[in-house]
Amino acid sequence: MNEHYCAIVGLGGMGNWHRELILGEGVWNDHQCGPLEHLHLAGCFDIREDRQAYARSVGLEPYASLETLLMDEKVDIVVCATPNDIHKDIVMRALEAGKNVVCEKPAALNSAQFQQMMDKAKQTGKLLMVHQNRRWDEDFLAIKNLYEQGWIGELFRIESRVHGSRGIPGDWRKTPEHGGGMVRDWGVHLLDQALMMIPEKVTQVYASFTNVTNERVEDGFTAELTFENGLVFVAEVGTNNFIALPRWYVLGRDGSAVLSNWHEQGKMVRVTDRRRNDAVPVRTAAGLTKTMAPRTKDTVNEELLPRVPGDIRDFYRNVMLVLEHKAEPVITLEQVNRVMLLMEAVFRSARQHETVSFEK
Ligand code: NAD
Repeated sequence: MNEHYCAIVGLGGMGNWHRELILGEGVWNDHQCGPLEHLHLAGCFDIREDRQAYARSVGLEPYASLETLLMDEKVDIVVCATPNDIHKDIVMRALEAGKNVVCEKPAALNSAQFQQMMDKAKQTGKLLMVHQNRRWDEDFLAIKNLYEQGWIGELFRIESRVHGSRGIPGDWRKTPEHGGGMVRDWGVHLLDQALMMIPEKVTQVYASFTNVTNERVEDGFTAELTFENGLVFVAEVGTNNFIALPRWYVLGRDGSAVLSNWHEQGKMVRVTDRRRNDAVPVRTAAGLTKTMAPRTKDTVNEELLPRVPGDIRDFYRNVMLVLEHKAEPVITLEQVNRVMLLMEAVFRSARQHETVSFEK
């Protein structure tokens, strides 16, 4: 493998995350990872002087301007970690300067912008890879594995949620002009995970937004995707949820699974004997319920969902291998574009208060 040099544009929260990942200074999935071999940090640039000063304080020499960063011949990968509305400009300029680009999610504000970015990558022959890093989250990998293994039979509903209670963080995320709102912030991850898990077309989308703490952009949303095989996938983001629902709740014909949060191992309950239907009676004030009475324990089996390890460093390893023509991109522009179009369907549905067809 050759040595590669990257420079970060925008050294805020996420730019710093890239810095730590590349240098091996961060903690990922509760364990410290080593530095990425063959990948070096050449420098960074941020329009804010305090972030330039922060760079110096952690031993990273910032460039004086974006132009000087792009002129540095040593740099072959530019990482764009600016607010969402600035991605397109930085990415276009970096590609034109002959750099390969890693762009933070969401790649652009809309699919029209993203088309221009894809065209530019094609025209310059340079790599553009979008950082859909939550494909390496172990909770997602465990549920994807459950889907593929069919342990609880054919799935008919998957609910994927992230719930916080502190509103929309920061400044630009609260404004539409900077591409704020929770669809572009967290939704892009949950929708990307749905499309990576289920190899079917989405036929229709129904979405609704919440505006509890913010009037200008959605501070939460629920999007219900129906896949061609009938499976319903619910993606939900909440920022005013003082009691969080589980990260994943999955229903199959022969069982159910739940995974509470990122750091927890999920569990599944499978029916062992369909013919037996014995119930533990439930008496409520209004009388006995048979329908909602749980099964007796001897007709079901409870097991932990196997862990599937994910190594987030594989993202950059793949970038380097692609640059050396030794691998195909794990995150393709077509995949990202499909998510961009799906987000647009979510916005359309929420605006019109109706189900919209998708067919992609
Ligand atoms: P942030 O506000 O913490 O940082 C953004 C930085 O970009 C700031 O320091 C700002 O000064 C700088 N900046 C703004 N305009 C610039 C320009 N023209 N040139 C250079 N620097 C500029 O925001 P953040 O939370 O780090 O988010 C940055 C990006 O990363 C967003 O696109 C966000 O969606 C994405 N992000 C991705 C993940 C993920 O898991 N993949 C997580 C968080 C954020």
